[in-house]
Amino acid sequence: MTDCLFCKIATGAIPSEFLVETEHVVAFRDIDPQAPTHVLVIPRAHFQDVAALTRDDPALAGEVLAVAAQVAKIEGLSEGHRIVTNTGINGGQSVAHVHFHVLGGRGLTWPPG
Ligand code: AMP
Repeated sequence: MTDCLFCKIATGAIPSEFLVETEHVVAFRDIDPQAPTHVLVIPRAHFQDVAALTRDDPALAGEVLAVAAQVAKIEGLSEGHRIVTNTGINGGQSVAHVHFHVLGGRGLTWPPG
């Protein structure tokens, strides 16, 4: 999708340093970190949200989650972490390209507020 921020990051049109890069998935640090580790994991292909991703390519959804788990390991989050995907206005989704936040490195409260 031409006007999508995360599509541009995935293609390299907007330069970004990838922690993990596979044929179908990339992981990069959030520009406004909410925890010592805050990484975003996205499919390179454009899907609006987790419902579209799991409907159209469930295998890719599994790949994205596997990379999220890999990020937690790379970042040394052995004491725990959180993997979150926000959906829609009430869910707080600000970028309409499905992404999973990997958060850790401090105690995370629940519920998040
Ligand atoms: P959400 O609000 O769940 O849609 O998450 C979108 C996330 O993208 C937010 O945490 C933003 O801080 C992050 N973000 C926005 N622009 C960039 C960017 N250029 N590079 C990295 N992260 C970004």
